[in-house]
Amino acid sequence: MKQNREVYDVIGVGIGPFNLSLAALLDTQETKALFFEQKPEFAWHPGMLIEGTKLQVPFLADLVTMADPTNPHSFLNYISQQGRMYQFYILQRLDIPRREYNDYCKWASERIGSCRFGKQVTAVHRLQDGRHQVDVQDASTGEVETFYTKHVVLGTGSTPALPEAFQNMPRQDVFHTADFEMQRQTCREAESVTVVGSGQSAAEAFRELLKEQRTCGFRLDWITRSPGFASMEESKLNLEHFSPDYIDYFYPLPQEKKDEIFASQGLYYKGISEHTITDIYNLMYEYTVGREKIDVSLLPLTKVTGIERKEGRYELSCHHYQKEEGYSHRTDKVIVATGYQPNVPSFIKELSDVIEFDDYGRYKVTKDYRLVNKGENAYNIFANSCIAHTHGVGSTNLGLAVFRSKVIVNQLLGKEVYPVQDSYVFQSFE
Ligand SMILES: Cc1cc2nc3c(=O)[nH]c(=O)nc-3n(C[C@H](O)[C@H](O)[C@H](O)COP(=O)(O)OP(=O)(O)OC[C@H]3O[C@@H](n4cnc5c(N)ncnc54)[C@H](O)[C@@H]3O)c2cc1C
Repeated sequence: MKQNREVYDVIGVGIGPFNLSLAALLDTQETKALFFEQKPEFAWHPGMLIEGTKLQVPFLADLVTMADPTNPHSFLNYISQQGRMYQFYILQRLDIPRREYNDYCKWASERIGSCRFGKQVTAVHRLQDGRHQVDVQDASTGEVETFYTKHVVLGTGSTPALPEAFQNMPRQDVFHTADFEMQRQTCREAESVTVVGSGQSAAEAFRELLKEQRTCGFRLDWITRSPGFASMEESKLNLEHFSPDYIDYFYPLPQEKKDEIFASQGLYYKGISEHTITDIYNLMYEYTVGREKIDVSLLPLTKVTGIERKEGRYELSCHHYQKEEGYSHRTDKVIVATGYQPNVPSFIKELSDVIEFDDYGRYKVTKDYRLVNKGENAYNIFANSCIAHTHGVGSTNLGLAVFRSKVIVNQLLGKEVYPVQDSYVFQSFE
């Protein structure tokens, strides 16, 4: 094992948008920082980089602008460097293509000196003096290197949540929306495709398949246990929940209350964008001109309770829970759109002698994003991901990434580099 004697100020685990924002803000500061990502290059949800899909926040929520519009890693600087300023100006859009957001982040990640790719963090240890040892494995050589750092920042994001029933099925036939673009071709060759779930990813997969359904000739079904194909709450006043003010209100509430509130806010972030529903409806309307039949069905109120492989196809056990009727549904491909779960690495769970966890095994987090230490410690592990249980509904929203980065930078540098206001939005949640 190779050991690096240098002691870093901070090491980041994972380079998704959240840690990349932190790396971008630190890039203009005097800090010794390193950020490690296991993938070979920056890639933001590659299976869902569908042509025509848009970022669900304005481009102003890039990696840096909301803290420092003069930072060289801004989206507008990327556009300028690409020689696309006139095209972007004439485009007149705040909601940039999802593929462009990914390309922008990749561009930034290649310019920020502290980012390292193809490196998986395999362990974090707390040392006697309170600092941290971080073990990093190179993806291509398998070699493990050890680094020392004062602080660690977790930005490990989330992983696709695949219900147990679907887990042991062949991946080319039964797959999560996270793999949609990689498996799309196999759907074109199938006789029947079924999408299960009704969030934004489900709707986008269904819309893409709907566009191709008639030319490819497959049957298309969309099943959800939700009472309907509900749209996301996107009114401007509702968007104020994705603000520092809402965190100020939410954070001090008792944990049981937070869990209860968060569970009731599904449509703030899990519903379908109005424009996606409109696209789907318009397509179906167009296809049925002259009362033409389409081989498509939308089935709400239906719980899929199991899946079995039968004669080369798949049989889904379905239950209409209002009619209390069960039936089976046969299909060749199943696209499972059942969301994502927090990705807390096992090496963090193993730190229970120095870090506090709640009764559900979730780490406890201070308001300023430090994992709660057992006893005094001069150095910290910060959480940039997996904090919805403590900081609420905005935790996975890109619009709050830069705010969180500001709060973390101020602590890492021990001074107010980026001022934080008392209030940002119109409404008072108190
Ligand atoms: C399809 C999709 C579209 C979305 N669109 C929007 C949107 O438009 N607007 C919005 O506000 N939110 C959106 N979200 C939600 C949110 O933006 C994303 O969840 C976002 O990617 C979160 O960033 P992150 O940095 O926490 O995690 P991630 O993007 O998940 O990145 C975490 C990274 O950590 C790496 N990693 C994990 N463990 C290790 C390890 N041990 N060592 C090294 N690397 C590791 C992973 O490989 C990964 O690259 C979307 C989510 C999805 C799934």
